[in-house]
Amino acid sequence: MFEKLSPMPADPILGLMAKYREDTHPNKIDLGVGVYKDEAGHTPILACVKKAEQLRIDTEETKVYIGPAGSGSFNQLIGDLAFGTDNPAILANRIRSVSTPGGTGSLRVAADFIKRINPNAAIWVSDPTWANHIGLFEAAGITVKTYPYYDHENKTLKFDEMLATLATISSEDVVLLHACCHNPSGMDLTNEQWDKVIELTQQQGFTPLIDMAYQGFGESVDQDAYGVRQMAATVEDMILCSSCSKNFGLYRERIGACSIVAKDSQTADIALSVLLYVVRCIYSMPPAHGAAIVETILGSSDLKQQWLDELKVMRDRINGNRAMLVNKLIEKGVTRDFSFIAQQKGMFSFLGITPEQVAQLQREHSIYMVDSSRISIAGISEANVDYLAESIAKVL
Ligand code: PMP
Repeated sequence: MFEKLSPMPADPILGLMAKYREDTHPNKIDLGVGVYKDEAGHTPILACVKKAEQLRIDTEETKVYIGPAGSGSFNQLIGDLAFGTDNPAILANRIRSVSTPGGTGSLRVAADFIKRINPNAAIWVSDPTWANHIGLFEAAGITVKTYPYYDHENKTLKFDEMLATLATISSEDVVLLHACCHNPSGMDLTNEQWDKVIELTQQQGFTPLIDMAYQGFGESVDQDAYGVRQMAATVEDMILCSSCSKNFGLYRERIGACSIVAKDSQTADIALSVLLYVVRCIYSMPPAHGAAIVETILGSSDLKQQWLDELKVMRDRINGNRAMLVNKLIEKGVTRDFSFIAQQKGMFSFLGITPEQVAQLQREHSIYMVDSSRISIAGISEANVDYLAESIAKVL
């Protein structure tokens, strides 16, 4: 049977990482992989996470199955963090959440949930979007369509075109929106733009699916959730896929959540029963360790404060890197306007250079980024920014 297989193309980022590891250039820079790194290029374990893990080791009593929904306490706390405890949808008991293996697991659960409700539903994603969105929804048998989003030429949002496309989408379909720190463009909706999108969502009746993989990495935990909170308070149905990989630094623990907002509590219960069935048919039950860490942190006012402080350090470093790169490029005599990088949010921006210039940066300067010129901002540091800006200036 296996002789019928033909090889799948390798993941471009994993290929890039392998090349970077083999490169012996002393000034090599990795701007490919989308994980947070500190000034030393290390992805640290947060101190609050270490404390929570120790507490868990000291107090955990069993490793028995946890059930398809995962930890009830985690589900409640992560829902409160995303939607805000005073959200009308929470007060009306319209939300149900399950723990999932990361944000990716959450998206896959959402995909199978959608397929079960409406096998003909298409999902509309931003152009461009995180590449895995497309593969993941197609793998679940859902047609993926795109709406205009990022204007590569002008480094702006194609907001009018986005709205015009959303206005054609029927109530049968699902629209995927990025809560904050849009991957790959770094271009987020303003609050006013969110309000317009929410108005249109209500008018058209399609189901919004919001992917929140970076809460707290943009402006603040609360501001980054503006769209999620307003949407939940306004529309009848909504899906939220959240991830604790980045903001808790729990990447390999695989923890996230899938939340369903329904029109009333009774419908939410029915939706939960379907969600649990879907989970049971994919991986049966989520891993417990990451959820236990997050619920320990969010359930303790001291640990939560420590987490917020550590999250701010990561956020400030990313935003600082953005401004630092823009200033260095000016200092190195680059006349092209790169100021958009300092205005964008989160882990990524497109440099906006050609694939040939990307290849040249890799070949001649050992600077690694994906062909689209998307850079991972956390890979920049005070130690490498001079070399980076000089190299960009040369290829321009
Ligand atoms: N959504 C987006 C937009 C992402 O960028 C990512 C991670 N790169 C995810 C979801 C999935 O995150 P996780 O690692 O938790 O599966």
